[in-house]
Amino acid sequence: MLPWLAVVWQGFVLPYRPRGSGKKVALIQNRPVLGGNSSSEIRVWVLGATGLGVNRYARETGIIGEMLLENQYLNPDGNPYYWDLVMLEMVLKEKNISLFLNTNVHEVEADGNESSRKIRSVTGWMMGSERKITFTSPLFLDCTGDGLVGFLAGAKYRIGREAYREYQEKWAPEESDNISLGSTMFFYTKDAGHPVKFIPPSFAQDITKTAIPMKRVFKSGDSGCHYWWIEWGGEAHIDTLYDNEKIRDELWSVIYGIWDYIKNSGKFDAENMTLEWVGSVPGKREYRRFIGDYVLTQNDLEKQANFEDYIGFGGWSIDLHPPEGMYASDYVSKLFCVDGVFQIPFRSLYSVNVDNLLFAGRNISATHVAFGATRVMATCSVMGEAAGAAAALCVDKSVTPRQLYQNHIKELQQTLLRNDAAIIGLKYEDPEDLASLAHVSASSQLKCLEVAKPAAKFHMENDVAFLFPVNPHVNELEILLDAHEDTEMVVELWDTGRPENYIPHTLQVKDTVRVSKGDRQWIRVRLPWNPEQPQNAFVIVRENQQISLHQSDVPMTGVLSFIREKKANISSLLTAIDNDQPVVQWSMKPFVRKPFCFKLLTETEAYRPDNVINGFFRPYGSPHMWLSNPMQDGADEWLELQWEAPATFSRLEVIFNDDVNEDLVNLHYKRTPFDVIPELVQNYEWQAWVDGMWRMIAEGNNNRKRKAVHTLEHDCTTERLRLVVKSTNGSRFAEVVGIRIR
Ligand SMILES: Cc1cc2nc3c(=O)[nH]c(=O)nc-3n(C[C@H](O)[C@H](O)[C@H](O)COP(=O)(O)OP(=O)(O)OC[C@H]3O[C@@H](n4cnc5c(N)ncnc54)[C@H](O)[C@@H]3O)c2cc1C
Repeated sequence: MLPWLAVVWQGFVLPYRPRGSGKKVALIQNRPVLGGNSSSEIRVWVLGATGLGVNRYARETGIIGEMLLENQYLNPDGNPYYWDLVMLEMVLKEKNISLFLNTNVHEVEADGNESSRKIRSVTGWMMGSERKITFTSPLFLDCTGDGLVGFLAGAKYRIGREAYREYQEKWAPEESDNISLGSTMFFYTKDAGHPVKFIPPSFAQDITKTAIPMKRVFKSGDSGCHYWWIEWGGEAHIDTLYDNEKIRDELWSVIYGIWDYIKNSGKFDAENMTLEWVGSVPGKREYRRFIGDYVLTQNDLEKQANFEDYIGFGGWSIDLHPPEGMYASDYVSKLFCVDGVFQIPFRSLYSVNVDNLLFAGRNISATHVAFGATRVMATCSVMGEAAGAAAALCVDKSVTPRQLYQNHIKELQQTLLRNDAAIIGLKYEDPEDLASLAHVSASSQLKCLEVAKPAAKFHMENDVAFLFPVNPHVNELEILLDAHEDTEMVVELWDTGRPENYIPHTLQVKDTVRVSKGDRQWIRVRLPWNPEQPQNAFVIVRENQQISLHQSDVPMTGVLSFIREKKANISSLLTAIDNDQPVVQWSMKPFVRKPFCFKLLTETEAYRPDNVINGFFRPYGSPHMWLSNPMQDGADEWLELQWEAPATFSRLEVIFNDDVNEDLVNLHYKRTPFDVIPELVQNYEWQAWVDGMWRMIAEGNNNRKRKAVHTLEHDCTTERLRLVVKSTNGSRFAEVVGIRIR
């Protein structure tokens, strides 16, 4: 029996990092690799709030953020084995985590009554070692996806769909049932460079006798998640857990049937293609969902409910599939996108009746419909980080998760913010943070907001828009365009409603300007707006066939561009989405890092140096970061913190801009043109003013991370401290999101 302070299962959900909290964590995983569905055994792409392309500045930070950045650098081609390594290395680097691979937990000791139970221990069988290991702990996290630990402990749970009358969800059926999403296996193909035959096994299905080939799009060379619709097991008479083996056999019969069709039907250019890998572990989408003190619903997501116990955000659409899966004659995945990211409450992460059980991942306390959005893996990881941080605090304070919610929820939120976790819109407040007491100045501050270097023309066959921060007001701006004939251009300025949203919400001001025929003209428009709070402006230029705007190929932090799609571009043969949803209509896909050219004629205060101590570490109504003027060759840019009396510290923390608008995926279906986010500062120094001169006390070289922490060997006492930015990974500006000094 091993005495651990906290026990965590590792699904995809990565556990709380015990760093600093001093807690020991046993990470128990019944398979040989980490990552659950994202592992090389299953190969599901890790997606999150930016994944569908509808949310802006929504990529998760915290542990999953660090992993995605690291993977981007180490594994730009998205090799599934390299992703395994990213995860493994991250865990091995944590001294306080003990990793138990190949250890299947199948016994749980718990006592108490139905409404209040407590887990004493869990026991696992370590395959290959013939070891039976029992783990005791004050707290347990069930991140097993299927929820076996909670089930054995007597935790309350649900399977299937809730009835409409329970939560009044639009997408709920009239009566509850046990229909769920089905399971899937993928396969990878490759070009062998010479003809390769394929003789199908006897159990391969003739898929021409099913609905499959008529409806699906096959492309030789597609791999992995392209085949997400090879799904089965969701119907009421099949149980995704009990029938797991049967489901696997059915999926194999279809995979080899599809491959037979691709190779031997003569309809594909596949002579040289061969199978590189075929899954053997069904990727499970859904099974038990535990009941917590709160059940997250479709209504919460749709109205972007604010929770006092908000611990992280999600942003995938509600995404539900037909129960018949691949055999559905009208296979269509139903998607619903909220106006922006949605909040997840802590009360959905602990059991209503097992006092020391937390959970995270696909088994959290959410209805079937809400689970349709919370289930993607970057969101699962956000929850895992929150549940882990909560477990550590529970141990510190000798409280249950419920008591933590009741009495210490702010401390949990602040802990998460300190760890740079994925929370938008909550302010970090740390009385011990000396940076927050300093006066902040800088070598320069970007005040002239412009995107002035054209690279391509964009013909205005649609409404288009650009978004920029307004601080404190806007008056006039200029737009670069070609007019093919004399015409009138209509331009409107809208607010975005909530600060975390990036859609036109309320029209504030409109201008119509006459434009004469001619190329490369900077046309002035008057859009006076003086909002009460600094916030983003969403400027729409209405469709005009006589006009082409100019797009730059140089991104500008804080500026986004959009096109109003006439037809939603995330619809496909396999998905149905409501085109009226504003986040779907206003697509940014063609304009990521390619904004329209415009100039603000009013100076902006949006990039002030003191943004680095304002407690917001993510864009939220404005970028919340410092930007210098464009850096000149060889010249440094710096931020200075000055205190009235000498400050003594030993820990320097800086958060750089890693462009949380950039969608990063672990197993890339798209290749991003850089391995390191260009906005990240590359080389920098911390300098303290000591004995009348600047002395370097810490430095960072070849940085590629968002958060950099330097712990000094000896305390430093000074009235002046500087962060000197020497170079970036590509950006023209020095960009810093936050500084914390202790
Ligand atoms: C085919 C498919 C496509 C999907 N598409 C996407 C997508 O494109 N992007 C996306 O982000 N999400 C996608 N999802 C959803 C996502 O994969 C899951 O919701 C997510 O993996 C859930 O994470 P989890 O950690 O809760 O569970 P899992 O990923 O299932 O991980 C649970 C882990 O716990 C381990 N475990 C289980 N029982 C025990 C036990 N008794 N003892 C020890 N260990 C145990 C399992 O081996 C596993 O490693 C998809 C899912 C599927 C199946």
